[in-house]
Amino acid sequence: IASACAKEVAKPTKEERISPPQSEASTNEKIKIGFSMDTLQEERWLRDRDLFKESVEALGAEVVIMAANGDDALQISQAETLISQGVDLLILVPHNAESTATIVHKAHLAGIKVIAYDRLVKNADIDLYVSFDNEKVGEMQAKAMTKLVPKGNYVFIGGAITDNNAHLLKKGVFNVLQPLIEKGDIKIVYDQWTKDWLPANALANMQSALKANGNQIDAVIAANDATAGGVIQALMEQGLAGKVPVAGQDAELAAAQRIVEGTQSMTVYKPIKALTDEAARLAVALAKGETVGEYQKVNNGKIEVPSFLLSPIAVDQLNIDDTIIADGFHSRQDVYKLS
Ligand code: BGC
Repeated sequence: IASACAKEVAKPTKEERISPPQSEASTNEKIKIGFSMDTLQEERWLRDRDLFKESVEALGAEVVIMAANGDDALQISQAETLISQGVDLLILVPHNAESTATIVHKAHLAGIKVIAYDRLVKNADIDLYVSFDNEKVGEMQAKAMTKLVPKGNYVFIGGAITDNNAHLLKKGVFNVLQPLIEKGDIKIVYDQWTKDWLPANALANMQSALKANGNQIDAVIAANDATAGGVIQALMEQGLAGKVPVAGQDAELAAAQRIVEGTQSMTVYKPIKALTDEAARLAVALAKGETVGEYQKVNNGKIEVPSFLLSPIAVDQLNIDDTIIADGFHSRQDVYKLS
């Protein structure tokens, strides 16, 4: 706090800013990042919000955060507000991969660069994409499940159709399952998206899957832990929780608890701090007009987007202590419900 105050005090007044050369003046200005989020109604995004703020402030910059609670029109108007407030860079978690292209366009008209955070914006000249390797998340889920259940009836409970990550994850899952489907070892008996990633929608889908198959289901891959929660509730209603392996992602606390209790088989842990540090570093560098170095390319339907993709980590009962607990992502106390 003391050093932040010192910086504030040292900030030149408007008059003083006229005198130093332009370059020096601009490096002395505090960079202001706008962070437009889809929602804060899920555990992971609260962590993203808090850690991103921390990461940006550690670099001496500041961030203005707005969350749209899953409302496309609201996300667009909030982004417009950030643009009109004169942020130096906009970073966004799109609720809708397609409709947020308009935000990128408007920001560019105002000379503001845009980074897609965690989820890609499709068909837009987005400047950078920072995320985890979402296809790998799906591959990790399917690899873990096919090890547990090499043959049988599989259910796939996908994510939101409007989220590019849901498509990447599905691609990863089927990269692993397809050869086994073709061999006849695995049969997909139900495959459905989950509107807005909502657990209640996943619950309803899983109830339909169980009904349609007379409960003859051997494994479920759910696109994240929130939807896995809905799936496990549906299994519980049929006395099948803990009997049918379920995969998720995010390492949410409830999922970590279900893993030690045995009702969820695995999750995919994505260390959010690594993502926010990387995103903040790139955001501040781009805002200063610096080049950011080597990167991968991901096609978004319009361009090859320069991308930074971090590695996810598969977590089950065996390595939960050495991963999410060792990292302090959750405490041992909370995961094992020790009082
Ligand atoms: C994220 C997941 C998250 C999901 C629902 C996806 O884009 O990658 O981590 O669970 O959105 O919010």
